[in-house]
Amino acid sequence: MLMNSFSSFPMREELTRAISDLGFETPTPIQLKVIPQLLSEPIDIIGLAQTGTGKTAAYGLPLLHHVDVTAKHVQCLVLSPTRELCMQIQEEMTKYGTHMRGLRITAVYGGMPIGGQIRDLRANPQVIVATPGRLIDLLERKAISLDKVEYVVLDEADEMLNMGFREDIDLILKNTPSREHTWLFSATMSNEVRGIAKRFMKDWKEFSVAAANTTNENIDHQYFVTAHHNRFESLRRLLDFTPGIYGIIFTRTKQDAQEVSEKLMKMGYHVSPLHGDMDQKMRSKVMERFKSKALQCIVATDVAARGIDVNDITHVINYELPDDPEVYTHRSGRTARAGKSGICMSIVSPKQISNIRQIERLVKQKFHKSDIPDGAEVIRKKLFFYLEQIANAEPQADFAKLYRDSMHEAFAEVDKDELIRKLIWLQLRDTIDAYQDSMDLNAGYESKDRGERGRGGRSSVRMFINLGEKDGLNSQKLLQFITESTDVEPGMIDRITVRDMSSFFNVPGDAAEFIVEQLSSKKFKGRKVRLDEAEQPRAFGGGGESRGGNRPKPQGARYSGDVKSYGGGGAGYNSGGGYKGKRK
Ligand code: AMP
Repeated sequence: MLMNSFSSFPMREELTRAISDLGFETPTPIQLKVIPQLLSEPIDIIGLAQTGTGKTAAYGLPLLHHVDVTAKHVQCLVLSPTRELCMQIQEEMTKYGTHMRGLRITAVYGGMPIGGQIRDLRANPQVIVATPGRLIDLLERKAISLDKVEYVVLDEADEMLNMGFREDIDLILKNTPSREHTWLFSATMSNEVRGIAKRFMKDWKEFSVAAANTTNENIDHQYFVTAHHNRFESLRRLLDFTPGIYGIIFTRTKQDAQEVSEKLMKMGYHVSPLHGDMDQKMRSKVMERFKSKALQCIVATDVAARGIDVNDITHVINYELPDDPEVYTHRSGRTARAGKSGICMSIVSPKQISNIRQIERLVKQKFHKSDIPDGAEVIRKKLFFYLEQIANAEPQADFAKLYRDSMHEAFAEVDKDELIRKLIWLQLRDTIDAYQDSMDLNAGYESKDRGERGRGGRSSVRMFINLGEKDGLNSQKLLQFITESTDVEPGMIDRITVRDMSSFFNVPGDAAEFIVEQLSSKKFKGRKVRLDEAEQPRAFGGGGESRGGNRPKPQGARYSGDVKSYGGGGAGYNSGGGYKGKRK
């Protein structure tokens, strides 16, 4: 038996089994610290950990371990700031307790008719997950008794205090006469949080893990600079450039969430708004569709998104930066959970670059200025996404059998090449149309032709490197590789763009040769690194980063004669992109 594994915890067998069913293999840092303590000696504790660190299981498993399922009264109370979080905690704990016969966990929160919740409470749950306001309402109606509650968990205590629940929390805690154990979880430690501990807890122990959101190195922070009036178009382009996206787009206002979402829906994106003007039923429905991946993104305000706990979010997009840099960390922390990596993109106006610097200091990570891709890059990205989807598709056996003859008959006369081109054309036609004459959205260049703009000035040189996403890189990791392999400082490199098989970045002109020299002798995961000065981007589709003049052009399809709209990206998959250096 591995030390530090779930099975090494002296926990009831039903819980160990559920954890194994869920596929949890290793306890997270906060779980490692807290669970053994709370199982063997459930003293009062303060856990400093954010959502995404596995804190629900850190208190949930010990809580369920101590529950007496044969007793039919409320023994454990979990207070949480929002209804979404309540629902998630209940869901999560129900999974842990799935093998515990007789266990009932009920969630009560505002925004839903109280009648149904009163009925739920009559089923004698042992565990209640509640928002403070609704719980007080239920106490006043005498629909619930907390007289025999022994365990109280305050989850996201700082958030509850921020939301003005201090008096409610005090009142609730005063109404738990049998309370023996109080476990407080908070992302931050403030005087107010400490105040609760002083008033209601005995000799507590503190456990903290690095705040996931502020130091999560798995998050690649990127920003895109565009004029304010190009914000929506930039968002759209970023979405198109990220075909497999499963993300949250944050807006500052409910109205923006609604409008941005409506515009995207009209354009055919699978998105939905999530904000406080929607009733609870609609919001739950949106969350259900999002969780089942029927939606690729939700467009949300900060309040509505608080506590959203979805594990595999690939991207967070800040349509607008929040006013408060702290809020940025809450947003970005929605991605890169449970050890995964994620990207947080911010669309900013030139004036807001100073806000980015401020957030960088808070997050203690460098943000990467990235280019808003041009039309050819979008098309190329979509093409390869589609090719990969085709390659990985597994048609149902029945389907293939049933229609085999008809399918083959229909294309008996068409050769394979043509068929491929037709299929791909059908798939990409809309994108190609949409991006035919797309403009450069990068701030300062929107009205100019690419050829004129001389981005970065003479002092900055665009470099190509033959490593990309397929090598497991993102801009953060690429930057790390470059700076660790050369004497170049991270601050000298910017505008990193990572592609499938290659990447681009800018360096000061006088450092270019030096970098080429130092990196060209290096290997990355066994692959020899090649880098060179990139060809300067020309007019749309004509050359530059996503294109390669020396690549074989796709043949025959409608777009092949006019590489303009297609960007000739096909061969870029394994040819490494357009750069003027000689390729070996
Ligand atoms: P939390 O911080 O409690 O919101 O948890 C974040 C997510 O991580 C939840 O969806 C959990 O199901 C998941 N999770 C918690 N603990 C583990 C673990 N030890 N291994 C894998 N996933 C986990």
